[in-house]
Amino acid sequence: MYIDTHVHLNAEQYEEDIDEVIQRALDAGIEKMVVIGFDRKTILKAMELTEQHAFIYAVVGWHPVDAIDCTEKDLEWIESLAAHPKVVGIGETGLDYHWDKSPKDIQQEVFRKQIRLAQKVGLPIIIHNRDATADVIRILKEEGAEKTGGIMHCFGGSVETAKECIDMNFMISLGGPVTFKNAKTPKEVATEIPLDYLLIETDAPYLAPHPNRGKRNEPAWVVLVAEEIARLKDLPVEEVAKITTMNALRTFNIT
Ligand SMILES: [Zn+2]
Ligand SMILES: [Zn+2]
Repeated sequence: MYIDTHVHLNAEQYEEDIDEVIQRALDAGIEKMVVIGFDRKTILKAMELTEQHAFIYAVVGWHPVDAIDCTEKDLEWIESLAAHPKVVGIGETGLDYHWDKSPKDIQQEVFRKQIRLAQKVGLPIIIHNRDATADVIRILKEEGAEKTGGIMHCFGGSVETAKECIDMNFMISLGGPVTFKNAKTPKEVATEIPLDYLLIETDAPYLAPHPNRGKRNEPAWVVLVAEEIARLKDLPVEEVAKITTMNALRTFNIT
């Protein structure tokens, strides 16, 4: 049994065949999926999916790339949704310096507001970081984010950075990149970081794992991520499935 801790089943890429995608995931042993809503449209769709399927949970927040569009009203809405029994986290938030749609200062402000919101509602925070590690860590520290802890989603940093995040009460979530042949750093993280601090995710429809790299990703393929971690750690894949599932239930407080 597996949990895909970060999947965008609410993306338009699944409009045509979402039922088949979900069925393939269930057939592959993915017992729960956490759908991330990160703007008005995808939050609504994520909430809809939680109503339709007992095994789907939602994380709601505002993506750093679109931080410039985030209003006070949006944050109030996210706060009100946090009371929903199937909303299990706030995010994905964080910083993304790869795209320049939203200026850095606005990204940082919207990030800080969501860390505070997560503390107010008592939910873990899901972090998206691209090319912004130093600022992400500084802000998490300044805002006392270890109070709620959370997840470094699709972690792409070094072993050193992973340890720093673990010390701040964050879990390290690995996705498709750990399976890529040339992905030296994610493989080091999978090898060095104890299984107790690892989660698995697809981030589908993005970042499909090897040998499906470049295709539309889907939650069934989280198994490929688990298999690669098992190979690197020289453990049975059942062990990786079991421990990462327990980690996910604990992190999201799913009973
Ligand atoms: Zn992300
Ligand atoms: Zn994502």
